[in-house]
Amino acid sequence: MRKFIVGNWKMNGVSRDLDEITAISDLAQLYPSVDSAVCLPATLITRAVTAVGAFPIGGQDCHMQRAGAHTGCISADMLSDAGAVLTIVGHSERRAAQREKDSDVCAKAEAAKSAGLKAIVCVGETLDEREAGKALEVVLGQVASSLPDASAGTWLSVAYEPVWAIGTGRVAEPADVADMHAAIRAALVTRFGAEGEKIRILYGGSMNGDNAAQLLAVPNVDGGLIGGASLTATKFQPILAAAQASGE
Ligand code: PEP
Repeated sequence: MRKFIVGNWKMNGVSRDLDEITAISDLAQLYPSVDSAVCLPATLITRAVTAVGAFPIGGQDCHMQRAGAHTGCISADMLSDAGAVLTIVGHSERRAAQREKDSDVCAKAEAAKSAGLKAIVCVGETLDEREAGKALEVVLGQVASSLPDASAGTWLSVAYEPVWAIGTGRVAEPADVADMHAAIRAALVTRFGAEGEKIRILYGGSMNGDNAAQLLAVPNVDGGLIGGASLTATKFQPILAAAQASGE
């Protein structure tokens, strides 16, 4: 399976950062056996797409409805119209701050698919849940309820992102990542049959140039969702290199 390395710029990036996005897209061409993309603030998508050409640019969320009275929200059709080819849905920061439930995430993933976008559905346990021994139960529950029945196919990826590892510099132990990704894979295969083998499972949570090779070597880790280390080409480069070295 080709590795999928996706940057999540979160609420970072204005006009002056377009040069950095161009640098990242130029860099990605040096790693042809890796699929890569960057998910940007909606305000930058069209200009970034114009600047980078074929390099995939994504959004970070979409509304579950196509259009309507939802002030401040952006639909999957709008992301597509802006030039995005993928979107993240259900990031833990949105699950927490915007109180998004699994059913919302599922509807957003369906909306993304209907608009022709690839979707990355995020799941992950909090520190309290892990310390209570509930990490597997929580994450498998999210996987069951956040993925649409029509998940089979390469339009979908799942990102396992332990909440306590996001933006903290604290990385999950490879053995724990292996256990979780194996459990997610088993759940995908149980539900979707052989198609479940094709859904890429990304790890996210403080992945950087120092730990990417180790994490990407873990079985069933098919790529990474990267926040802080995706903000510059310099920091993103060693992750792409690690993915190229570890992928097919
Ligand atoms: C993320 O934004 O999904 C993420 C994993 O962030 P970071 O790499 O900064 O932990």
